[in-house]
Amino acid sequence: MALTRIGLAGLAVMGQNLALNIAEKGFPISVYNRTTSKVDETVQRAKLEGNLPLYGFHDPASFVNSIQKPRVVIMLVKAGAPVDQTIATLAAHLEQGDCIVDGGNEWYENTERREKAMEERGLLYLGMGVSGGEEGARHGPSMMPGGSLEAYQYIEDILLKVSAQVPDSGPCVTYIGKGGSGNFVKMVHNGIEYGDMQLIAEAYDVLKSVGKLTNGELQQVFAEWNKGELLSFLVEITADIFSIKDDQGEGYLVDKVLDKTGMKGTGKWTVQQAAELSVAAPTIEASLDSRIWKGGCIIRASFLDRIKKAYDRNGELANLLIDPEFAQEIMDRQAAWRRVVCLAINNGVSTPGMSASLAYFDSYRRDRLPANLVQAQRDYFGAHTYERVDMPGSFHTEWYKIA
Ligand code: NAP
Repeated sequence: MALTRIGLAGLAVMGQNLALNIAEKGFPISVYNRTTSKVDETVQRAKLEGNLPLYGFHDPASFVNSIQKPRVVIMLVKAGAPVDQTIATLAAHLEQGDCIVDGGNEWYENTERREKAMEERGLLYLGMGVSGGEEGARHGPSMMPGGSLEAYQYIEDILLKVSAQVPDSGPCVTYIGKGGSGNFVKMVHNGIEYGDMQLIAEAYDVLKSVGKLTNGELQQVFAEWNKGELLSFLVEITADIFSIKDDQGEGYLVDKVLDKTGMKGTGKWTVQQAAELSVAAPTIEASLDSRIWKGGCIIRASFLDRIKKAYDRNGELANLLIDPEFAQEIMDRQAAWRRVVCLAINNGVSTPGMSASLAYFDSYRRDRLPANLVQAQRDYFGAHTYERVDMPGSFHTEWYKIA
C-alpha cells in the first residue's frame, strides 16, 4: 500500500464521518481507534460508500507509519484526558516536523498547553473546532483551525475541499489565529448555538402551552418562519422534528423525548469566559468576517449576514443594539417582545432566555440603574467606597453614624 496523505484517530460519530468525507474528496486516509471494531466498521462503510481510499489500522505504530511525511493526524476523541492519552499514544511514533490536529471541542487553554509541549518535542499542533454534527462531518462541516500556521498550511488543501462550500463565499474554513483561538471561536459558536436552541424551545413552549398548537400546526409555523428572515438550519430542523411520528408507539416522537438536555462543556465555558472578559465582539466579528459560519455549521442562518453588515458599517461597534438598523428594528418590535414575555409569565410558562434577553435590553437602554443603592449598601456595611456622579474620586461615608 502506498503511504496515505493524512491520518485520523477517533472513529465515533465525528471522526468516522470526517474520515469518509476526506477520503471521498480524493485524499487517501489512514484511520485508527482505541476500540478496533470501530476501525473495521469505518473500513466497511468506506467500501459501501464507493470504495473510498480509506485504510484501517488496529495498532498505533502501523497507523502512524502508513502516513506520508510530514505526517498529519487529526484526533476526534472526547475532550480532556482522552485527548492527552491519544496524544501520548500517537506521539510515541511520530517524528520531528509531524503534526497533530485536535478536532474536538477542547478547552482552549488545554490546546495552548499541548501546543507548547508538542513544540518542545519538535511536533506541530492545531486545535480545530469542527461544527455541523454527523451530517456536516460527512458532507461539509464548518472548520475553525487555530495554532501552528505551518501545520495549517500542510493541510489547507484538504480542509478547503472537505469543508462546506457556500456559493459566493467559498469554503467554510479559514486559519483563525495562534494558540487556542480555533477552540475559542468554536466555544463562542456553541454558546450562540445553545442560546438559539433555548429561544426556539421557549417559542415552542409558548405556542404549545399557551397557544395550544398541535405538532402539525407547530410544523407549519416553523416551516413558515424558515421561509423568511428566520431562515436557518435550527428553525428548519425544528419544523422537521414536529412532523416525525413515534416509531415505537402512538403519536409524535418529540412528545416522547425526555425533557433533559446533554451538555459537554462548551456552553458553560462561553458563559464563564463572557463573565471573565469584557465584550467578546472582536472574536465574534473575526469569525463573521471570515464567513466560516455561513454553511456547514449548526448556527448557519441568513440573519448572520445582517450581523456581518452591521460590523462592516462600523468595525468598532461596541454592541449590536446600537447599530442604527438593529436599534430601529428592536424599537419597532419591543412591544411584541414584551407582550410575549408577559403572556408567558401570566400563564406560568417560564421563558428564561426571552426574559433575560429583555432584561439585558432594558438594562442597556436605561440611563441609570439601581446599582447606586447596591454600592451605597456595600459602603455602609463594608466601607467598599463609592464614586459620585458629580465629581471624580473615591468616597466613603460612615452611613450608620448619620442614620
Ligand atoms: P465522543 O463521544 O465525544 O468520543 C468518542 C471517541 O473518543 C471514541 O473514538 C472513543 O474511543 C474515544 N475515546 C474516549 N476516551 C478515550 C481514551 N481514554 N483514549 C482514547 N480514545 C478515547 O465522539 P464524537 O461525538 O464523535 O466527538 C468527538 C469530538 O468532537 C468531541 O470533542 C466532541 O465534543 C466534538 N464534536 C462533536 C460533535 C457531535 O455532533 N457529536 C460536533 C462537533 C464537535 P473508543 O471507541 O475506544 O471508546
